[in-house]
Amino acid sequence: MSAPTQTGVVAQSARRRSIAVISHPDAGKSTLTEALALHAHVISEAGAVHGKHGRAGVVSDWLEMEQKRGISITSAALQFAFEDVVINLLDTPGHADFSEDTFRVLTAVDAAVMLLDAAKGLEPQTLKLFEVCRRRGVPVITFVNKWDRPGREALALCDELEERINLRATPVTWPIGEAGHFRGLVDARTQAVTLYAKAPGGASLAQEEHLGLPAARASLGAPVDEALDSLALLEPLDVESFRAGATTPLLFGAALSNIGVRQLLDVIAELAPPPSARIGTDGNERPVDAPFSGFVFKMQAGMDAHHRDHLAFVRVCSGEFERGMIVTHANSGRPFATKYALSVFGREREVIETAYPGDIVGLVNANKLAVGDTLYAAPGPAVTFPPMPVFAPEHFLTARVADPGRSKQFRRGIAQLEQEGVVQVLISEARGDGAPILAAVGPLQFEVAAFRMEHEFKAPMRTEHLEYTLARLASDVDARLLAGRQGVELARRTDGALLALVRDAWRLRSLQRENPDLVLAPPPAGLP
Ligand code: GDP
Repeated sequence: MSAPTQTGVVAQSARRRSIAVISHPDAGKSTLTEALALHAHVISEAGAVHGKHGRAGVVSDWLEMEQKRGISITSAALQFAFEDVVINLLDTPGHADFSEDTFRVLTAVDAAVMLLDAAKGLEPQTLKLFEVCRRRGVPVITFVNKWDRPGREALALCDELEERINLRATPVTWPIGEAGHFRGLVDARTQAVTLYAKAPGGASLAQEEHLGLPAARASLGAPVDEALDSLALLEPLDVESFRAGATTPLLFGAALSNIGVRQLLDVIAELAPPPSARIGTDGNERPVDAPFSGFVFKMQAGMDAHHRDHLAFVRVCSGEFERGMIVTHANSGRPFATKYALSVFGREREVIETAYPGDIVGLVNANKLAVGDTLYAAPGPAVTFPPMPVFAPEHFLTARVADPGRSKQFRRGIAQLEQEGVVQVLISEARGDGAPILAAVGPLQFEVAAFRMEHEFKAPMRTEHLEYTLARLASDVDARLLAGRQGVELARRTDGALLALVRDAWRLRSLQRENPDLVLAPPPAGLP
């Protein structure tokens, strides 16, 4: 294996832009992902990304469930070259029940594109996601989508961003014509105008006409000056404050017609930060040109009947990854062979030979790896990146094997789902490990678990809803104080943490009143 030159890794890393597209469901995330890919000429026909909405593609049993529920669970990592940069685009599940998944994807990117629906503005999931990005220091580019339909006023959306999430919008493009009467976009910096002729169905690029300001004025009249007046009220684009999370570059468009998408790619290439040094649990920085290291941010298994394997998605943090290299699994200290390394995007899988910081590698046969685990090149300086933050679950049920003859498969299935972070698994002393408690942020996670247990592990489960809605970390003292109390149950996570499951906030307060010594801390992280 030839050792990569340091300058090679540094140069490759500097070209990378790893971003996630996030939004409230239905804002147009899948549509935008396809449009971005289309612009980069990686897929010939929009629709190759997901098998969603009855578009092209073989429908696997997994996708069947997604379709039936109208949800998207599988996230995709797509790599494409755009001019002189390499963009890694990570898709995220839109549904709030899979917030934990989205959060994990956000640990693996260097910037995010937030989509707003022009008519809806800031929706509940949008607000939560902005907050998560802020906490994680992920800079956000905002794309106001569906400008082809009636919606809010552009300036009102800017005010909303500032007032509700304390983020100042700095326009990159500004619409000519209000939502629903869209004529074109003006570039905030050059004042060049692009007029659009929509392409039908979103399957090909919108036709563009580029004009200077005088020609645009002559052709469109007053709306051009109205756009310029609005722009004059807002702050100019600024790299520093964007990367510091104080401002968000703002663009307008219509993903369905590929309008404004090229400008978005330009901004990603120009402003989104390349990968930088990551801090290990020992507090030391691992620069991008250190030997290979990365962490698992997502596990995927049994998604497709044709690929019943365990895939671990690894974000490369430093060095050059070469397929076939033996790496160390930091969490077990054991070697891990990377003979089978893939890029995975929806149903598309391709073998990856090399990868650089910012890239996403799908490792096959990864059933010993878990979400949050670190891998690094051996021999070489060891590193462990911080574990994935765990959310405070709000939904609980007990699971038992329906057919006692399938107990072994049941146990294996539950352990696997936990390792992948599909649900959290808790064992209560009273119930024993034959009846684990499954805990989730949203109930759709339980549906995924039930589906996988039945179809993949052939061990359908019988479940029983539990009346708890809160989990708090409990100390040994707390455990003693809570023994035998009503409306509370103690259960242990496999990482050793003891959780007190409580019926509701009211019960929690009454327990705390009765026992002033009770500590019961909320688990760290989680969404606001
Ligand atoms: P996701 O849930 O965020 O992935 O949203 P989708 O990409 O599935 O889009 C939700 C709906 O909005 C679909 O019916 C899209 O066709 C539609 N849509 C997406 N972008 C646009 C747009 O720019 N204009 C219009 N009019 N509809 C759009």
